[in-house]
Amino acid sequence: MVELKIIKDRKKFQKERVPQIGEEFKLTKITVEENTFNYQGVVALAPIEFSAKCEHHLVSIHGNVYFAYVPGRYIVGLSQIVRIVESFLNVTAEIIQEEVTKKIADYFEKKLQPQGLWIVIKAKHECMTARGVRQRNCLTTTSEIRGVFWQQDLRQEVMGLWKL
Ligand SMILES: [Zn+2]
Repeated sequence: MVELKIIKDRKKFQKERVPQIGEEFKLTKITVEENTFNYQGVVALAPIEFSAKCEHHLVSIHGNVYFAYVPGRYIVGLSQIVRIVESFLNVTAEIIQEEVTKKIADYFEKKLQPQGLWIVIKAKHECMTARGVRQRNCLTTTSEIRGVFWQQDLRQEVMGLWKL
């Protein structure tokens, strides 16, 4: 009961604020292309820098998104990937890092229908570095793994490509 109430209140809280993640997000369209040359390798992009706000404390979050996918039927332009990530994560967006990591993964999984997808976000939350517990160097890392990236050797390859 208590948990349900919290979630409900959060949605209401979000609705009263503009712009929303969802509204920002509608501004960006994705155009996928057929993977006619049948590329089966990894496409890795990182780091994609961002700044956003913590939904709980309304202070800044600064971080990087690490993106990788193995195409299936479709591929997508690289700058489109960045634009879409930026429409989830921009200076005015109020986010929960766990939620936005999942949303980005869900979105690309649905649109690209890839063989695999891996989204990592590493970020510094000012609510942790500048106030409260004051952990200046503490980074929060979230990771959403889909499809072939459950294979550890493939994740190892991508960490090399990302230079993580
Ligand atoms: Zn916070």
